[in-house]
Amino acid sequence: MPLMPLLRLLRLSRTRLSRVAAVLAIVLLAGSPAISRQSRPALPKVLILATGGTIAGEQREPGTLGPYEIRKTVNELVDLVPEIQKYAQVETEQFLNVASARITPELWLQLARRINTILADRDDIAGVVVTHGTDRLTETAFFLHLTVRSSKPVVVVGAYRPPTGISPDGPLNLLSAVRVAAAPEARDKGGMIVMDERIISARDAQKLYARNGGFNDDEMGTLGIVAPHGVEFFYSSTRKHTANSDFDVSGIRALPRVDVHYLYAGADPAGRTDARGVVVATTALAPDERTYYDALQKSGTVVATTFPSGAQVITPSSPYTEPQPMIAVKRLLPAHARILLMLALTKTHDSREIQRIFDIY
Ligand code: ASP
Repeated sequence: MPLMPLLRLLRLSRTRLSRVAAVLAIVLLAGSPAISRQSRPALPKVLILATGGTIAGEQREPGTLGPYEIRKTVNELVDLVPEIQKYAQVETEQFLNVASARITPELWLQLARRINTILADRDDIAGVVVTHGTDRLTETAFFLHLTVRSSKPVVVVGAYRPPTGISPDGPLNLLSAVRVAAAPEARDKGGMIVMDERIISARDAQKLYARNGGFNDDEMGTLGIVAPHGVEFFYSSTRKHTANSDFDVSGIRALPRVDVHYLYAGADPAGRTDARGVVVATTALAPDERTYYDALQKSGTVVATTFPSGAQVITPSSPYTEPQPMIAVKRLLPAHARILLMLALTKTHDSREIQRIFDIY
């Protein structure tokens, strides 16, 4: 049919026709995959390294409160959360698949070295997520906080309940962790623990209990939250970590042994140990326990003291400063103080120098 009668039939003028054609062209072009890929910025890349824990649990009787084995693969965990694809391009690596009681200092070294290698080789990775059992989660996270030498976020995450159970928390925790690892605001914040939509510095996080909200800090350490509208940071640590850390684990095959002693009524005051360092968890330097400290110090063991809660600094004064001063831990849980002492002992045995390290990390 000739153009003019057709236009009349459709009640379109030439001007309206060209407008309609322009709109049609925009709609068609916008729908073409080549154009949409160019106009939408690529999502950040996040690497998920899986080590196991309840987050990878599979129950014998799904949907119950019953027991489970740790056997879901990292790809299965990611497949449970399709929402992740809205926030990041995810790559995965099955580093281990164990309960976190089986995580050792040797595995911390391997994990830190693996993350350092990946972040050094791969500029395109925005951040790393480590899935982990909750029992030892804060220890691994604090080790990474001190030994990953990058400004990029390292987020450690777990779950209280397995993904096959009632009301699993792992999928939301994993999604939140990926969102934090992908967020530009998460750079320079060091190692972080993301649980229950809360972002806590790995330095200060504690597992207070194994129910919702169980990962928390005591007085300081919560950095921000993961909300539906975005990842929001409000605070950051002023202490040294990650990119500013002086600890280089690339050539370390084994960490010096450091033990934690807990002083309580009737504790054996012998002060015997083969460890190179001891963290003493106590509520005071009691004069009656002097022989214990003397024995440790005379055998050349580096002694550091902290409250069992980690929330109070015990400053040793004379006679606890002879022959070497004991180390005052600056607000770290005993298990975290042990990690810092292990790393400090890879650098020096001088107590004054070790105290300087505890003052800045
Ligand atoms: N047994 C588990 C683990 O630490 C507990 C958990 O992940 O919550 O591996």
